[in-house]
Amino acid sequence: MPCIGRFAPSPTGPLHFGSLLAALASYLDIRSRNGFWKVRVEDLDPPREQPGAADHILRTLEAFGLHWDGEVVYQSQRHDLYQEALQVLIDQGTAYPCNCSRKQLRARGVQGYDGHCLHQPPPALANVAYRVRHLQPRQHFNDRIQGRRDYHWHGHQGDFVVFRRDGLFAYQLAVVVDDADQGITDILRGSDLIDETPHQLELQQQLGYPPPDYAHIPVITHANGQKLSKQNLAPAIDPQDRLTLLRQALSLLGQGPSPDLADATLTELLDWGCLNWNPAAIPAVLSLPAAKHLPGQVY
Ligand SMILES: [Zn+2]
Repeated sequence: MPCIGRFAPSPTGPLHFGSLLAALASYLDIRSRNGFWKVRVEDLDPPREQPGAADHILRTLEAFGLHWDGEVVYQSQRHDLYQEALQVLIDQGTAYPCNCSRKQLRARGVQGYDGHCLHQPPPALANVAYRVRHLQPRQHFNDRIQGRRDYHWHGHQGDFVVFRRDGLFAYQLAVVVDDADQGITDILRGSDLIDETPHQLELQQQLGYPPPDYAHIPVITHANGQKLSKQNLAPAIDPQDRLTLLRQALSLLGQGPSPDLADATLTELLDWGCLNWNPAAIPAVLSLPAAKHLPGQVY
């Protein structure tokens, strides 16, 4: 069985260097094992999206030689699949309506959830969210990069939203349905998503999907420790500088290209990266060198 991986960006802005690192790591991890690498655009939340961002991200991946297999999948076109899965959860009694607002949860001092709506169901089903009961109070998984992770959920703390009060499907549900539908065997992504994993494992179990293997690379930060993200306006990367950026990305991931690759082309660098891919060499902390700006970036 070949392994199948994916890169799943949200089109909330152009690709930034942190996302490029995640895409590259996932690509090398899969290609080094002769697997298939897919791209899925997670455009589930229109108000947060930026027009043209999805195309920009795809063009940037191509410019870096990160070519994907098959068609790009868009979550905005898959609501039927998510609805079906939600119905399964409702029918089997693990999803329940919840009309708690964030404000109410805050006022009750709730961490995670307190089971309120399971005991006192909302009077009407208009504008309700659906939560899934987290049935496994103890969970662990072995992350290929971060090692063993343990989780313990008290009461209804772990119950999580799969359908939002604003009528949108939640990230957790869409991701799990898509990973199963696309036959994803290996997920490599940023460690900002690591604590979503137990919820996704729970959903996979409830929906009868096989769990993929998980690997989380550290989230890259600025030298001052601040996360490099769309939220703090990390600049888009400039494909003009792709050779330098690719070299820098490989080095940051601990896969430093050997000196004899000084004149290598993009393809040669990627081929080298596949042949020499070593997840164990990824450093525990990824941070940009101080005072040394990434080429092609405006700060
Ligand atoms: Zn509630």
